[in-house]
Amino acid sequence: MRRGVAFCRVLCAVSVLLLAPGSALGQAQPPVQSAAHDASQSSGPPAGALAQPAAALHVSARPDGSAGAGQGGARAIDARLAGDQQRTRLIIDLSRSVEFRAFTLANPYRVILDLPDVTFTFETRKALTRRGLVAAYRYGTFAPGKSRMVLDVAEPVAIDKAFILDPVDDQPARLVLDLVKTDAASFASTVATAAEARGAPSAIAGHDATLTETPGDPRAVIVLDPGHGGIDSGTTGASTFAEKNIVLEVAFALKAKLEQSGRYRVVMTRSSDTFVALGERVRIARNNRAALFVSIHADALASTDGQARGASVYTLSDTASDSEAARLAESENKADLIAGVDLSEESDEVAGILFDLAHRETKNFSALFARTLVGAMKNAGKVHKSPLKSAGFRVLKAHDVPSVLVELGYMSSREDLKLMTSDAWRGKVAGAMTDAIDDFFATRAAGVGVTGSIVQAPAGK
Ligand SMILES: [Zn+2]
Repeated sequence: MRRGVAFCRVLCAVSVLLLAPGSALGQAQPPVQSAAHDASQSSGPPAGALAQPAAALHVSARPDGSAGAGQGGARAIDARLAGDQQRTRLIIDLSRSVEFRAFTLANPYRVILDLPDVTFTFETRKALTRRGLVAAYRYGTFAPGKSRMVLDVAEPVAIDKAFILDPVDDQPARLVLDLVKTDAASFASTVATAAEARGAPSAIAGHDATLTETPGDPRAVIVLDPGHGGIDSGTTGASTFAEKNIVLEVAFALKAKLEQSGRYRVVMTRSSDTFVALGERVRIARNNRAALFVSIHADALASTDGQARGASVYTLSDTASDSEAARLAESENKADLIAGVDLSEESDEVAGILFDLAHRETKNFSALFARTLVGAMKNAGKVHKSPLKSAGFRVLKAHDVPSVLVELGYMSSREDLKLMTSDAWRGKVAGAMTDAIDDFFATRAAGVGVTGSIVQAPAGK
């Protein structure tokens, strides 16, 4: 019990935020319980952390709620699971104590740990080992200054204990999370609200990409959307490379080329390794009155699904053009779920689209650009044997912004992967994409619409 004593000596207060189910969005209720701990009364973890029904457990590292004095980000050095199907414990070794929040989400069942800026230095492979109630977990940046860990659980669980042990002697600080098996009804009564899951509005406000119009700048705005990021690595295609890094590099190369031309203002939905929700990517396009939205990804096939190579360009449609497109949209649409974002609160602009006239025009322009882009990419390298497809991609749902999603190639193909990780190829592809964007705007400016009608020049012209 030595560690337990050490814990209570240093960590004296645990505040438990009780959130009424269905409480107003974005408004955390004031703490209704704050238990002070006296080392003489307890040698175990704080009982206050076990109060039920708690939607979210908020654990401060210090009695004043601060995370401790003067220290940049903490490092997570190791993580491990212990226990069985009845009770499973996650232990994370940390370079110092941190403040954290733990809560659960349904559909599918997940447990979320929100942390401050933590750098994870242990092996990713560890997170894929199934143990007890935890099927897998992942971790990474969730927003500027915020990290997150998401645990997939196969069945309903309750957070039984969640606490921090301060470092002592040669032992690191430890975050301990105990999950116990529960039933679906109890789980439902403690699940966090969507606002809780989002981790407060600042998860979004931290983005410079939400900057809106620049008055007097006549250039068309192009929003580049490197897929995934932070806690959501995208696919790896069984390689050591992550999709999120490859697509960010290509987006940077394309941004540089476009800006060189002087004809466009480029906005990136992310310019670092951080998570951005799909709805937020759509909002960035709309808030910037983008004339074009290009989402950049890389695909992968399971080894049992054969081999495929080359780039494909996708547009939005109600029904998928083929089973391959349906599979891909389903996988790309999981990004929010992977990062532990609740989808139930998405606004109308994402969840339901009115297929009105404006939307039809947008659809036509999206199709025009998709064709132009495939043409240009054929010149730059390999394209898929049927490179134009469509499906219900959530990220393409800005109803007034022509939008396409490019899959640069297959990370499951050794040849494609070699290309996608080379500087020369990146430069070539960025050049081809810039040519396609030039062609697209030239066609639009000439008034040649795909419907045959006279169309408007790009925004700002
Ligand atoms: Zn992707």
